[in-house]
Amino acid sequence: AHNTPDAQRIFDEIHHAFELSSESLIQLTGQFLHEFKVGLSGYNHAMAMIPSFVTGVPDGTETGTFLALDLGGTNMRVCEVVLKGDTTFSLRQQKYKVSDALKTGEAAVLFDYLADSVDAFLTSNPPSDAPGSHELESTPDVVHLGLTFSFPVEQTALNSGKILTWTKGFSAKHAIGNDVVKLLQDAFDRKHMHVKCVALVNDTVGALLSRAYTAGGCTLGAIFGTGTNGAYVEDIANIKKLANDPAAANGGVMIVNTEWGAFNNSRSHLPSTPFDNALDRLSINPSFQAFEKMISGMYLGEVTRNILLSLVDAAPKSLLFGGKTTAALNAQWGLDTSVMSAVEEAWEGGDGEATPWQNTAPQLSLFEDVEKLDANVATRLNRVRDVIAKELGFSVDAVSLRDAEIVRWASSMVARRAALLSGVAVGTVLIQTGRGVLSGQEGQPTKNEPKIGVGVDGSLIQFYPHFEETLRESLRIVVGADVEKRVEIGLAKDGSGVGAALCALQAVKQA
Ligand code: ADP
Repeated sequence: AHNTPDAQRIFDEIHHAFELSSESLIQLTGQFLHEFKVGLSGYNHAMAMIPSFVTGVPDGTETGTFLALDLGGTNMRVCEVVLKGDTTFSLRQQKYKVSDALKTGEAAVLFDYLADSVDAFLTSNPPSDAPGSHELESTPDVVHLGLTFSFPVEQTALNSGKILTWTKGFSAKHAIGNDVVKLLQDAFDRKHMHVKCVALVNDTVGALLSRAYTAGGCTLGAIFGTGTNGAYVEDIANIKKLANDPAAANGGVMIVNTEWGAFNNSRSHLPSTPFDNALDRLSINPSFQAFEKMISGMYLGEVTRNILLSLVDAAPKSLLFGGKTTAALNAQWGLDTSVMSAVEEAWEGGDGEATPWQNTAPQLSLFEDVEKLDANVATRLNRVRDVIAKELGFSVDAVSLRDAEIVRWASSMVARRAALLSGVAVGTVLIQTGRGVLSGQEGQPTKNEPKIGVGVDGSLIQFYPHFEETLRESLRIVVGADVEKRVEIGLAKDGSGVGAALCALQAVKQA
């Protein structure tokens, strides 16, 4: 019964539910583009398209020393950034854990903790005298700080913005609707600290700025980490909702934080599976961040865990792990995305060889007689089995090679869908900025630079095997190979710190 056609059909059907045809990728891009335009034209839309009030892109000649505080990911960081003016920088940083109690408690307590962390950092890292630190010297009594705050904020100036919603597991009370810069500055002032928060920047904007600083230019900053989001350089004329804002009077460009993680919150377009729906229902923000929940590190492990559990529980006969589970498999969020990454790395073994079965459902008939498995495949699956046993808490002999193949398949299927959808978001920016034309539509790009700079950050794009390659596959589908070839994806190293410093510099100059 284990290998009956019925069992095979269960796998094939799940596989099919996760597939994205070229037509659906192109259609999704069209819908994405539509949500971009809606977001640029007004407020309170899912795709928030938030003006950053950053009206230029650095070229690498900027100098100065600044503090940066980064809240929004798995860790909170405080750093001191020295911009050297030759596209390089130096940075000293300290990471601090943000407990669940802080994430979900009172906002004032959270912001006091941030201020205490900055205080602790300054005590253990007195400001440096590196060359180019004249900004600090000119105002010796006050240290200027840029805040990277990676949540949706309706920004009204470089140094102020109202918190719209929490995402990524945060839900601190009495924060929504308040100015995040004021919340932080009040905490500094309560402690009589000589620190002034002069700039507020989203991590995607920071990624764009820092990549522009080190690479001499950049069009899009994108994060694929705990969450996903992107910011790009837009013509102010296209930001219709800024029409009456003095910041728009002189035209030019402004960086827009898209908040693309909220694409299609209405869920009418994205191909949700029961595994996505289960995740969404039990999340702290049901029906919000629909796109992000299919893409980012916080969620992919959970989608995969839901698939694995459905197979463990399959009736009339379990299809995985002989019907057994472990504490990790049973716990919500118990399977981290990094485990999927480790499973895929184990399969590949670092040999960079072509990987059979990259994108098909497990072929159950191959496992009827494990002795007859291809030797190379068996070696790879043995490595996968060891990772699964270690990471999910099974004894090695409780995991069959067939189980290993099933976990490998589920991981790569969920990650592949994420990377293809990521390509839709990147492709949308290329089309919106005139660098590409949606497949099947008339017309030519209006911009044809030899290189299109994309600065990225996040563990998913940095470490997940084939993530960038698959994102590019999707880009070729939605904007064509000619455009995709010119896209230069580079790491926005220390993007949030350097970006915040560059923003603080702009704020101090404007003041
Ligand atoms: P953040 O976005 O919080 O600044 P990261 O970019 O490191 O930080 O993203 C953390 C997320 O990335 C976590 O959700 C984690 O599950 C996932 N992750 C961590 N390591 C890996 C890895 N090697 N491969 C894929 N995902 C990973």
